[in-house]
Amino acid sequence: MLDQLTGNERVKSLLRRMLEKRRVPGAMLFTGEDGIGKKLFALEIAKALNCRSPQGVEGCGQCPACKRIAKFNFPQSAESEDWKSIIWTDHADVGMVVAPKRVLLVDQMRQIEREANYRPYEGKARVFLIDDADKLNDSSANALLKVLEEPPHTSHIVLLTSRPSMLLPTIHSRCQMIRFSPLSPAEIENHLLQNKLAGGGEARIRARVARGSLGRAIESEFEGYLEMRTAMLRVLQALAVSDDRIQLLRSAEESNDARHKDEYESRLDILESLIRDAWMLALQAPDEGVVNEDLLPQLRKISERLDGQRPAGWISQIEELREQLIVNINRKSATDALFLTMAAAAPPLQRKRFVPK
Ligand SMILES: [Zn+2]
Repeated sequence: MLDQLTGNERVKSLLRRMLEKRRVPGAMLFTGEDGIGKKLFALEIAKALNCRSPQGVEGCGQCPACKRIAKFNFPQSAESEDWKSIIWTDHADVGMVVAPKRVLLVDQMRQIEREANYRPYEGKARVFLIDDADKLNDSSANALLKVLEEPPHTSHIVLLTSRPSMLLPTIHSRCQMIRFSPLSPAEIENHLLQNKLAGGGEARIRARVARGSLGRAIESEFEGYLEMRTAMLRVLQALAVSDDRIQLLRSAEESNDARHKDEYESRLDILESLIRDAWMLALQAPDEGVVNEDLLPQLRKISERLDGQRPAGWISQIEELREQLIVNINRKSATDALFLTMAAAAPPLQRKRFVPK
């Protein structure tokens, strides 16, 4: 039932209206941050269309059909070739494709086209999810166009992405776009507490730093996150307060040791959120908007050393680096350069002499 999903009430009513009018589009594009429930919403459509004892227009969640739709049969190992085909649920009419590596494959799209042209085996509708649809390249996108154009009326294809701008206009124009909003910190905090996923204080921090993504709030490894945040706070202190370049270089080094790209990106996200907090405090904004509220004393100290322009410059430099990371430049030289240009962006109030080790 849609009611059991957290947030995005507007999308819920939109989907209910589509179901009531029996006008669920054959091609839909769900956009919005990772981890806000796009996949779960898409599965609710699959349940609603195939449920054996529907509640109004929605799936009951309890009947064998609904239960089977909820269970994906993911391949057992990361190397399995099965990642290259449709990953079916226990229900013969509902499946999903994911990018086996960096791109979604032409063969995967052809398989979707073929399967979409069959009539449903056991239910009333076939539903196919394409996860991370921004990983379609030109060839795989083109392979998908025909079936998106006119899917059989018993088949529905749902593309999911957090980066809609990466998709070709020809894909956009064939899909009905449904935008998901980030969840509010309160919605996330409630979900964590109700499902006993975190205790009070931790739930509050997790909810505030998750930037609207329930998935992020749940999955983020909390201890690891706090460590990264401490490291990034040191970067900001070195930038704003002490002009300590040795510390900066050391932090750049640590960031380069990040085990994988996600962790590296998390560090940038965290640094950005700390800068934004200190910036808001420097502009005398009310404390409630501060994301890292448990660090208020440290942030306030940093904010005393900031004018309006330095943080703005830092944030645009971080954003530039993020764009460069998408085209995969050398991470190490990029970080060194980032931290040092950030330090040089404008002279801090007092500047110690740089003494090499
Ligand atoms: Zn059901």
